[in-house]
Amino acid sequence: MLLSAQSLAREYKTRHGLFGGWRPVRAVDKVSLELERGETLGIVGESGCGKSTLGRVLLGLERPDAGEVRFNDQPMPEWGSAKWRESRKLMQMIYQDPLGSLDRRLNARTQIQEPLDIHAMGSAQERDHRVAELLDWVGLSADHAARYPHELSGGQRQRIILARALAMRPDLIVCDEAVSALDVSIQAQVVNLLADLQERLGLAMIFISHDLKVVRQVSRRIAVMYLGRIVEEGDGETMFAHSLHPYTQALVSAAPVPGQPSHHRIILSGEPPNPAARPSGCSFHPRCPQAQSICRDVVPELRDIRAGARVACHLA
Ligand code: ADP
Ligand code: MG
Repeated sequence: MLLSAQSLAREYKTRHGLFGGWRPVRAVDKVSLELERGETLGIVGESGCGKSTLGRVLLGLERPDAGEVRFNDQPMPEWGSAKWRESRKLMQMIYQDPLGSLDRRLNARTQIQEPLDIHAMGSAQERDHRVAELLDWVGLSADHAARYPHELSGGQRQRIILARALAMRPDLIVCDEAVSALDVSIQAQVVNLLADLQERLGLAMIFISHDLKVVRQVSRRIAVMYLGRIVEEGDGETMFAHSLHPYTQALVSAAPVPGQPSHHRIILSGEPPNPAARPSGCSFHPRCPQAQSICRDVVPELRDIRAGARVACHLA
């Protein structure tokens, strides 16, 4: 197992109003998941449901308040230790805003080569070869490599970030809304590139997005989050055909598949989810078209419902 998480929780203290006290907000709650080498897991859910927090905790960028993350069957090394810094190479994160992750004063080639230089990986000539290979992998020319971030498009910048992440030969890449800021046509190109590289290099990938359509294009397995918890997990195709959780059903109905008859669109009523005011019982019950009285009172556990599929719903 490359990565496993057991009952992870992460809480933040947020101020309630100008004069209010500090209140704990549970951004991630009892999340368990597993990722094999070379596998891709999609994580989808509305903004604020805890996807980014989960990504940071899984990569060891933040410590969980409860639960444990294991990488390569070992506990995550002590935060900030030499071993922990070493482990950073093997797990790379790619964010939504490539310009914010790049140095405006350095051209693309320098930025791709930087991690190789910092970690003194190979001779100068080997590094040159490596940079050429990385550029080729991400579909950039030598001409692109000479340019500065502001001279490149959003999609090209994201390719540079990807090349730089791959330079370290990571085992795992976490893409957090990595294509969300790109135009739809460019989005598709970068998504295809990610899927290609993932397969070619045997990379494991966690692909986080609020957009189920995009998640589905890269991930065979998908976990759906609602208010800090996984509410459904399983094979993406099966999930699209027969989602089990009413929340997943609503997401699927809003993400029609080209060439397939679209389901009746389910419009969710009620307030958007707010972790500072978590409803009792099943967090989704105030918006659930199928809610019964048990849903108000009892938190549904995430349980296995068929091979490789889990759901947290009393009615499934
Ligand atoms: P997502 O990525 O799904 O949009 P996040 O993980 O960013 O969700 O946020 C989950 C919840 O945790 C939100 O309510 C957010 O306001 C809160 N949160 C996230 N990061 C912090 C932080 N550093 N300090 C306080 N609250 C945070
Ligand atoms: Mg986020």
